[in-house]
Amino acid sequence: MKITGETKLVGIIGYPLTYTCSPVFQNAGFEVLGLDWCYLPLVVRENKLEEAVEGIKALGFVGFNVTTPYKEKVLSLLDELSQEAELTGAVNTVLIRDDKLVGLNTDGQGFLTSLKKEANFDPSFKNVLIFGAGGAAKAISVTLAKEEANSIVITDCVFSKAEALAKTLANNFPKVEVKTEKPDTNLSKAFLETDLVINATPVGMEKEQLPFSVEHISKKHLVADLIYQPQQTLLLKKAKKKKAQVLSGAGMLLYQGALAFKAWTGFEAPVEIMREALQNALR
Ligand code: NAP
Repeated sequence: MKITGETKLVGIIGYPLTYTCSPVFQNAGFEVLGLDWCYLPLVVRENKLEEAVEGIKALGFVGFNVTTPYKEKVLSLLDELSQEAELTGAVNTVLIRDDKLVGLNTDGQGFLTSLKKEANFDPSFKNVLIFGAGGAAKAISVTLAKEEANSIVITDCVFSKAEALAKTLANNFPKVEVKTEKPDTNLSKAFLETDLVINATPVGMEKEQLPFSVEHISKKHLVADLIYQPQQTLLLKKAKKKKAQVLSGAGMLLYQGALAFKAWTGFEAPVEIMREALQNALR
């Protein structure tokens, strides 16, 4: 990579950033398009968020990605929010334009693109069952509701979180049937009625563990795991054995990044080059 006095800067803020793959695939995208751009990992300590964001702006960055633990905390430092970011209450991409910080959330659209392109699945009029009601679940459920999913069932071990998300969805998307379930209840009916099952919890990332029982998974389901490391989680391996179609979180990661790339540069992201770089990094 060539760095010049004119190099445009973007990056990612979070803590820790040990395992981030975004610099690798974003820089691969800049390189193949011959753009004089550079994407940097920017480790930000817990009590330094405000100073870090001010510094990024002062240094003339074009924008930045936001990851754990700042996706929600960063909101109060921004000037404008997209509709997705506002409804989700979380931001994963910031665009700095005319000295203003504009917060976007490309996670939901990233997931939707992965669903459509990699699993050939259109969520319109489909039934969805989501495990987890955290930041990622919020982003994808808002997008699926916008796409007019028929129903969305949310379950989270903190039931109040599931209820709060269901309320936001019901208030903003009256055509979508929104329900909540406690994860420890019998979910056989919910599984029977659903087309798409999504793991939006971190369970299965640190160690081989199932976020929920696969007892009711069958070949009628598409099982999507938002986890991308490992790509083949225990959930996906077991779901595959039950003949379900499966989708890893790597596609969502790629496409949320591709949307950020477009928002910053104005160019379509070279997705296949970025996919190859991401796959190499994940290996
Ligand atoms: P989060 O904010 O921590 O939310 C996860 C939620 O799931 C928490 O409320 C958690 O409750 C709940 N939960 C944990 N175990 C559960 C279970 N067995 N059943 C039901 N609910 C359960 O995390 P997040 O930021 O939304 O991220 C979730 C996952 O998505 C992570 O694995 C993350 O890496 C992945 N992700 C992937 C992408 C991508 O591009 N592929 C993007 C964003 C996130 P407690 O708080 O009580 O544990």
